[in-house]
Amino acid sequence: MLALEELVAEDSYARLVDVFVDALPLEELGFTQTTCQKEGRPPYHPAVLLKLYMYGYRHGLRSSSKLHQACLVNVELWWLLKGLKPSARTICYFRHNNAAAFKKAFRHFVLMLKEWKLIDGETIAIDSFKIRAQNSLKQNFNQKKINNHLEYIDGKIEQYRKEIDEADSLFQQSELMNKIHRQKKKHETYKKIEKELTESGQSQLSRVDPEARAVVLHRNIVNVGYNVQAGCDSKHKLFVNAQTGAVNDTHALADMAIEAKELLGVKKMKTLTDKGYTTGAELARCAENDITTYSSPKAHSSQKNGLYDMQDFIYNEKEDTYTCPAGSTLHTNGTVYQKGKHRVKHYKTKACKGCAVRHLCTKNKNGRFIERGIHQKALEENAKRVNENPDYYRKRQQVTEHQFGTLKRQWGFTHTLVKGKENVLAEVHLTFSVYNLLRCMQILGTEKLRMLLKELASLFFDQIGLFENRISHSFFLIRQKSILKNVPSVGL
Ligand code: SF4
Repeated sequence: MLALEELVAEDSYARLVDVFVDALPLEELGFTQTTCQKEGRPPYHPAVLLKLYMYGYRHGLRSSSKLHQACLVNVELWWLLKGLKPSARTICYFRHNNAAAFKKAFRHFVLMLKEWKLIDGETIAIDSFKIRAQNSLKQNFNQKKINNHLEYIDGKIEQYRKEIDEADSLFQQSELMNKIHRQKKKHETYKKIEKELTESGQSQLSRVDPEARAVVLHRNIVNVGYNVQAGCDSKHKLFVNAQTGAVNDTHALADMAIEAKELLGVKKMKTLTDKGYTTGAELARCAENDITTYSSPKAHSSQKNGLYDMQDFIYNEKEDTYTCPAGSTLHTNGTVYQKGKHRVKHYKTKACKGCAVRHLCTKNKNGRFIERGIHQKALEENAKRVNENPDYYRKRQQVTEHQFGTLKRQWGFTHTLVKGKENVLAEVHLTFSVYNLLRCMQILGTEKLRMLLKELASLFFDQIGLFENRISHSFFLIRQKSILKNVPSVGL
């Protein structure tokens, strides 16, 4: 004598998930199996599985088997999924087969938030966090690691050979021969890995998840994982975009900022980032795209050698020269040189030969020469902005970072359950969608948010003509139930 409806609280997160997923144009977003084939057993509608994932990730239920178990025992899930209990395999394949759709759904949600004026795109704080991959450190190799293993094995073989010469009995000799044989097998394995590494053209090789990389998880602790970039809007600290791939933040700023700007459709944008993102080329790319950066400046590398540092040299932009502390002018021949990953111009003067303060300036026998990166101007402008607006820059930590604490500590998102960059990003986008939904709940209140979502859902069903989708969804549910009850299914 109990209705499921009564068992789910009015302000339950499950009810929010229900209306949220119904308000998404799942077919347009690329979710598979949105329509039913005429023949065969009907699959689960993606709305059912997406609701399950969105509910599960909120409660730390991420693996497909845990989600399946929850479907069997969790009352809110009985209500949310209308009694359906998809198998662990079905749940798992849904996440795997809809990686791109998860990203689109997240972006769609971000645009909804912009429409509701919860995101304004004025200032985006970008930061990263690391998660472990489905690949142990033992299964990650670089050339140095392989060399160490080979050296150790060669040493062992040499040691066993010496021990054979000194062995007293045939039994001991045969034991040692076996040990040599085993070490030779290991040697062959490492040689194969070395070949794979060379052929891949990469600096490291992860054998279980080839796209995972050795990253510094915390201080000096290295493990195999992904470095996830996250952009957060400063208005309500909601996630805007995410990327992954590189092991550090050096070249992530421009891609992240441009992606966020294009998604939000704003003409100008400001970004807040820490020192790890401060690279001349990235700052210059942002400036070209009307993005004003506030990235913590890095000290010049020549600062700590006890000689005149770069701040003692004044750059004259108009003439493209430097004036040194002795008042001489350093000129460039205009050539741009490649120095590692940077492109620089050289500046020097003949006045160094007879300079009275040369011992304070340089130890180079040819006199002081200055290297100026071609993006130095962008670095200097960025440093000026940060130094002149310390309070604004301080907002960075308030806008970002604390979300990572919630995701990692409260929800256990310290590792990914999937392999490959695209699938990992799908998990990230799903988690960010859940976070944004909960954050909206706090900002707007459950009732107002449900009302907005319901309005959107009705607009979506009426105007985009996907009402049939809902009908088809209902038929899916009816058919699923009829199968469960062993009664003839309803024809579509
Ligand atoms: S050594 Fe050359 S660059 Fe340095 S202060 Fe003297 S003249 Fe200027």
